[in-house]
Amino acid sequence: MSEATLLQRRHRVMGDASPLFYDQPLELVKGEGVWLTDAGGKRYLDVYNNVPSVGHCHPRVVAAMAEQAANLNIHTRYLTERIVTYAERLTATFAEPLDSLMFTCTGSESNELALRMARFETGRMGVIVSDYNYHGNTASLAELATALPRSEPLPPHVRAVPIPCLYHTQGSAEELAERYVAKVAEAIASLQEAGFGLAALLIDTLFANEGIPRLPAGYLERVARLVREAGGLLIADEVQAGFARTGEHMWGHQAHPLEPDLVTLGKPMGNGFPLAGVVAARERVEAFGRRHLYFNTYGGSPVAAAVGLAVLDVIRDEQLQDNALRVGARLEAGLGRLAERHPLIGDVRGKGLFFAAELVLDGQSREPAGTEARRIVNQMRERGVLISKIGAHDNILKIRPPLVFNDDHCDYFLDTLDSVLTGL
Ligand code: PMP
Repeated sequence: MSEATLLQRRHRVMGDASPLFYDQPLELVKGEGVWLTDAGGKRYLDVYNNVPSVGHCHPRVVAAMAEQAANLNIHTRYLTERIVTYAERLTATFAEPLDSLMFTCTGSESNELALRMARFETGRMGVIVSDYNYHGNTASLAELATALPRSEPLPPHVRAVPIPCLYHTQGSAEELAERYVAKVAEAIASLQEAGFGLAALLIDTLFANEGIPRLPAGYLERVARLVREAGGLLIADEVQAGFARTGEHMWGHQAHPLEPDLVTLGKPMGNGFPLAGVVAARERVEAFGRRHLYFNTYGGSPVAAAVGLAVLDVIRDEQLQDNALRVGARLEAGLGRLAERHPLIGDVRGKGLFFAAELVLDGQSREPAGTEARRIVNQMRERGVLISKIGAHDNILKIRPPLVFNDDHCDYFLDTLDSVLTGL
């Protein structure tokens, strides 16, 4: 069947609300490690997908999933041993007092639950997010999402604050931090004046969807302090930054002296199997549980547990956190060399195996090069390398391969990007 026919069938039966990547959408039939194969047999180097973070169809994850699925797969209101073992193993990777895990199936459900917990505990409704955020697709997250086109204003209990980026300021880091911390103070005051008060600050501490801004030192700690003083909780969304992605740490928030109250997990947790959750201190989970039942039919099934354990085993045994750090350094150096030769690349930011390359038309004015970013992403796809773009102006290349990305993959990616940039 031709791609065009499949597209037509998809459109007819699924509508248009769930968009596809690329000017010419890609029909995939197989994944293995960092490689994907399309319906015509062409192979693509995957430099985009963080969900299959230990590699597409990793044999150990697939075997664990199949073995458990063939033995017992039941909803979550029975006692099963593996899920407890998994929760113990996972929570052991967090600092005290984050020692309890509630299971969900998606990042959206995790953030939804975290918001519910924060509102329950504080008795308040107000939430602060970044002004280019995406935390999920439930009603209460969609209403505060600013990274997708929206027709309605933000609801009255939500404030969206801009996130500082050193690449986008002429002034000093100190002055930048001061100015942007003040915006959070204003947001808190405004929620208090409006009678909502502050329940939580919900952020991804890497600000992945925002384009991994270069934060001025001290900004996040000062923001966290303000939130605490106002009695709000800090929710760290680790859906993108977590599970060893940044190389330095298992969790993105650990790069800062921050102690989040609630940590939300998803995507890479199950390497493609819908496994997600919220981590918090036991007292917090128990207090919520005394007043609310949280039942999630599939969240924490025996198969989810088997998959989650296999993912943790692979991260440990294949030393993927170290790999992210080592190959990430090579990737950063290579991107830096490309930036010297191609002035279109204005800035390279990120760490581990997650980089943002901001494209600008002019190094002085830093006018966003959105059209060029789109052309590059599509031309890379034609040459067999998958990346994407992020940011409010769609001008930031998003470079985020599975963690099994090695030196050869890195060099192949850099050579292809070099040749696409040269031919633009
Ligand atoms: N949080 C962040 C930071 C995300 O980027 C996303 C999805 N892109 C989500 C939450 C939502 O996760 P899910 O699609 O699994 O619901």
